[in-house]
Amino acid sequence: MDCIFCKIVAGELPAYKIYEDKRFLAFLDINPVNKGHVLVIAKEHYQSFAETPHDVLKDLIVKIQDVSKAMTEALGLKGFNVVNNNGAVAGQLVEHLHFHIIPRLAGDNLHPWPGKTFSDEEMKRTAENISKQL
Ligand code: AMP
Ligand code: ZN
Repeated sequence: MDCIFCKIVAGELPAYKIYEDKRFLAFLDINPVNKGHVLVIAKEHYQSFAETPHDVLKDLIVKIQDVSKAMTEALGLKGFNVVNNNGAVAGQLVEHLHFHIIPRLAGDNLHPWPGKTFSDEEMKRTAENISKQL
C-alpha cells in the first residue's frame, strides 16, 4: 500500500519514535508546529476517523492521553492541542488516521499553524526526552 504511515510502521521509512506497541505508534511530526509535536496512530490502516472501529479509537484516545502526559512532563508544557484533521478540505494530507498532539506556548499565536525546523540532533533529543517519560 502506498501509505507513508504504513511504511513507517513497516520500518521502510525512518521516524523519531516516541512510543510503540503491537497496535499503536507515536512519533515526532517531521514538520513540527512547535518542538515536540507528536503524531499518534493505530498501526492498522484506517483512512478516516469515521471508519475507525470503536475499540481501536477507545484505546487510541487513552494512548494519546498517556503521550500527552509524557510530553507535559518532558517539555514542561502548560497546554497543548489534540488535533485530528478529517478529509482534504479539513487539511488531512496523510490518509492514515492520526492525531496531532501540538505543544502550545504562551503567545505563540499559531493561527494558522506554521511548521518549524529543528536539527536532527535536537529531534532525537526531544524524542528520547519524551520517550523516557513513558
Ligand atoms: P494531516 O494534515 O493531519 O494529514 O497531517 C499530516 C502530518 O504528517 C503533517 O503534519 C506532516 O508534517 C506529517 N508527516 C508527513 N510525512 C511524515 C513523516 N515521514 N514523518 C513524520 N511526519 C510526517
Ligand atoms: Zn497507512
